[in-house]
Amino acid sequence: MIKKARFLAKEAQLRVKYIMEKDCIFCKLINGQMKANFVVETEKVVAFADINPVSDVHILIVPKKHIESVLTISREDAGDLVEMHEVAKKLVSDNKLEAFRLAYNGGRFQHVGHLHMHLLAGRSIQWSKL
Ligand code: 5GP
Ligand code: ZN
Repeated sequence: MIKKARFLAKEAQLRVKYIMEKDCIFCKLINGQMKANFVVETEKVVAFADINPVSDVHILIVPKKHIESVLTISREDAGDLVEMHEVAKKLVSDNKLEAFRLAYNGGRFQHVGHLHMHLLAGRSIQWSKL
């Protein structure tokens, strides 16, 4: 009986996860359901220009895996996080950025519920818009 309850709870959890991922705009960009122009794509990560840039350079670095936010990162995501930072290094080097910021938003500052790191550089950074 307890086994069955556990099974049903797990199944419900997976269903919620599926619905969430199905409606996730970044998952749609990643799996080709929506058109995207990736500036970098690796095994675990994509990077693309922010649709509403707040600085001269505003690139989003996104794991292909649907991780909701900084608060839901687990140890098994270590490889994804390292690869995100490797992509950041490549973008900094390719774009010869002398000064840059890497930022995560969380809580009510986060508008897309799929983990993403902002790479910001250049003039007119307006943090309030993030
Ligand atoms: P957050 O506020 O969640 O940290 O940042 C989400 C970012 O995603 C915002 O800067 C927003 O402009 C960007 N964004 C939202 N939807 C899209 C989209 O469909 N395409 C792209 N390229 N950027 C998006
Ligand atoms: Zn997603």
